[in-house]
Amino acid sequence: MAGETILVVEDNPMNMELVSDILEAHGYQIMQAINGNDAISLVQEKTPDLILMDIQLPGLDGLTVTGIIKDNPDTRGILIIALTARAMQGDEEKARMAGCDGYISKPINTRTFPTTVRNLLDEKDPPA
Ligand code: MN
Repeated sequence: MAGETILVVEDNPMNMELVSDILEAHGYQIMQAINGNDAISLVQEKTPDLILMDIQLPGLDGLTVTGIIKDNPDTRGILIIALTARAMQGDEEKARMAGCDGYISKPINTRTFPTTVRNLLDEKDPPA
């Protein structure tokens, strides 16, 4: 079921708006962070069900932020999906080594993106 909370970590305003608009239209509650430090603070305040993590961020990069969240016993259960424009071989492996649970390459496919997100949430918490 929709209604889960998703934290979008993205420094590009257009990507942030696009991703947030699509997810809101599908019934998700959206939290937003434009850098890693904000993301780390937000997950302490309110635990999202899923984090969509841009890898290329100013300051702390998304893989470092993922590592910090996954190292904390209070937050390590949160599903983190890497978002990266660098469609280079080895990126998915790097994301998984950093603790990411999945990987979506940018630019996102706006038609398949909602289904991809839904499937990731259902894999973590299978519907009854
Ligand atoms: Mn970025």
